[in-house]
Amino acid sequence: MARKNAYWLPPTDHFALLPEISGSEFNGVGEPVVRKARQIFWLRKTAGHPFGRLQDAVVARYNSVPALYEVFAKADRGPKPRSAPAPIKAEKPAAEWTRLVREFALANEADQVGIASSDSAWFYEGHEADLPFVIVFSLSMDYGMLSQQPSTFENPIAQVEVANQYNRGARVVARTADWLLERGFRARMHAGPWVHGLSLVPAAIAAGFGELGKHGSLINRVHGSSFRLAAVETDMPLVASEPDHFGADDFCTRCQVCTDACPPGAIHNEKGLVRGVEKWWVDFEKCIPYFNETFGCAICLAVCPWSKPGRASSLAEKWSIRARSRPQKDGEEANADLGKRP
Ligand code: SF4
Ligand code: SF4
Repeated sequence: MARKNAYWLPPTDHFALLPEISGSEFNGVGEPVVRKARQIFWLRKTAGHPFGRLQDAVVARYNSVPALYEVFAKADRGPKPRSAPAPIKAEKPAAEWTRLVREFALANEADQVGIASSDSAWFYEGHEADLPFVIVFSLSMDYGMLSQQPSTFENPIAQVEVANQYNRGARVVARTADWLLERGFRARMHAGPWVHGLSLVPAAIAAGFGELGKHGSLINRVHGSSFRLAAVETDMPLVASEPDHFGADDFCTRCQVCTDACPPGAIHNEKGLVRGVEKWWVDFEKCIPYFNETFGCAICLAVCPWSKPGRASSLAEKWSIRARSRPQKDGEEANADLGKRP
């Protein structure tokens, strides 16, 4: 179906910030061989990084909005965890530690807790997994605030909510890390928005948080796409969670709400080969200038039908039953679900 409006185009000064290598090439779009991802954005910037000037521009623009600067600069991001594990490790079976760490994190602001056996493939080039488990946390976003997209200087409320949840994630991570260290185990923290070597999305998929959506973010059976992630790596013996497949990938093949809503047209309707894996992918070149213009666009998360409060669990129940009983859902029924847009 033809798009009603023309795609948004970046301001010309944006192009002066770009390096010679394209974001897609850097990300490995079209590459047939499996390899680690390279940190492109939200990294702790290294000297001479090809996308360093772009990152500086994004951060400067973000910090130019007082409400956004305040929400990061003055936020409570939790206590500083002790610097080393306690000298004596407490001994318990893995299932008991798993129960206790979940209980602790849920009582300390996490909305969901999942555990994955660590995999070096989730770490960016130059980073490795040196602890056996990743404990992943979800932080639900306020849908009313998230929906006020796109953010502007006058109304940055959606991005304030994104920042609020990153800060909540940082508190969960700091407290959980300290809890692990206190019991004699190691802990390495991963709280957004800055990436610290670990890509949270594949870790979260392994930890049972849901499926990758067409918009390049997760779809979760409770939050839809209205949530953020944080994580702690540890050597505490734990029991890994199971991945959670409930038909979201199948749903995405029949839906194009985010594709139609993305102003610069960055979301593809077909999967592509990225570093040797066939998956949904978002065009960095198109997304980033609009993301920058709107202080961290999340339109695709807000419009996703799964994000509407209360909708994800009923969709997951329905689509997981369908996936088990019939591999292909008939078009009429799929369209009925897709028609109930937020
Ligand atoms: S963040 Fe905005 S620009 Fe980027 S893919 Fe999503 S809707 Fe498109
Ligand atoms: S809007 Fe539709 S296509 Fe896009 S991620 Fe959500 S369900 Fe998938």
